Amino acid sequence: MNFALRVKMLKPSPTLSISAKANALKAEGRDIIGFGAGEPDFDTPEHIKEAAIAAIKAGFTKYTAVAGIDELKDAIIQKLQKENGLSYKRAEIVVSSGAKHSLYNIAQVLFEKGDEVIIPGPYWVSYTDIVQLAEATPVIIETGEESGFKVSPDDLEKAMTKRTKAVIFNSPCNPTGATYSESEIRALAEVIASRDVIVISDDIYEKILYDDQIFFNMANVDEELKRKTIVVNGVSKTYAMTGWRIGYAAGSQDIMSQVANIQSQNTSNATSISQKASVAALMGKQDEVFIMVEEFRKRRDYIVSRLNAIEGVRCSKPAGSFYVFPNLSGFYGRRSFMGKKVSGSDSITEYLLEEANVAVVPGAAFGDDRHVRISYATSMANIEKGMNRIADALAKLD
Ligand SMILES: *Cc1c(COP(=O)(O)O)cnc(C)c1O
Repeated sequence: MNFALRVKMLKPSPTLSISAKANALKAEGRDIIGFGAGEPDFDTPEHIKEAAIAAIKAGFTKYTAVAGIDELKDAIIQKLQKENGLSYKRAEIVVSSGAKHSLYNIAQVLFEKGDEVIIPGPYWVSYTDIVQLAEATPVIIETGEESGFKVSPDDLEKAMTKRTKAVIFNSPCNPTGATYSESEIRALAEVIASRDVIVISDDIYEKILYDDQIFFNMANVDEELKRKTIVVNGVSKTYAMTGWRIGYAAGSQDIMSQVANIQSQNTSNATSISQKASVAALMGKQDEVFIMVEEFRKRRDYIVSRLNAIEGVRCSKPAGSFYVFPNLSGFYGRRSFMGKKVSGSDSITEYLLEEANVAVVPGAAFGDDRHVRISYATSMANIEKGMNRIADALAKLD
């Protein structure tokens, strides 16, 4: 079959393929510990489920307005006002089938051949593909542990060209957990303010933030930056609602009306039932979010100390999200007792799966081959057992 070029360029999601491999081994009876998960291991809170059940029983099961029901738009507007200090009108909000869908729609609306889109790396796996599916070119700014995996104004300045159409920001970041402070965002905003560039702010880990760090968005800088910024967020990570598929974008009305147009020709509205559940998530009690984040913080502290106790491993302590991104490159070039050489993040991932029965995600998938991503969205018991296994397996390499 002669497939379209856009499909030939696509990489299958590496996070999903490692899960598939781990699941296949589990099915064979192997006791695999999965650190690949990109979703909270907690259940969706009860009052959110109840709202969905009530919606079904009330017959709220038909098409809705493409950009979302007013009730949910108002809940989003209230959230953005109260928690982020940002004011939007209904016409500036579009609800989509997950934040990934919001990002996809935005890319289709704004990008075309010849456009460059700046993405600080290590980056979430889907950004580059979403940009390429819109025929634009991703421009990666590489960062490392030395800078806390953050870009400086200077880095940003250097990456800008006449073709730069947008910058994608993701703080807290998947996979590094790096989180930008208000002063860091303000410094980056100075580079953007003088240019005709759009900021896409992926705030999906906004609430999964530790140590009294305060969330700050590019749109908070001033009115000009707010006009240039599209805020993308959703309920998946905050409320353990990944399967419900609700995300949203907030931005200027001219862009958002085009986002709604694109959506009207692909999915139409996001699921009516999930929209009602998301109203309950945003408007209801938030205590389960705090319980979840506190549990994540304990796991983060434990996992970072265990990793740093392994000779040859270096792991910085992330300020947000539920991932750690340890540097394992000190083991590259060493051999297992089978004589197989570990040469990079793909092969050390394979080694850990074979030798330690532990599934992690290779850093190469996120644009940094020196690291692997470990998700701690799994129980403390699993983390303890998995860390023991990783320590033993790495000690065997020589
Ligand atoms: C999980 C994730 C998303 C997508 O979330 P959905 O709302 O479930 O589509 C977007 N960005 C990042 C960085 C993520 O990790």
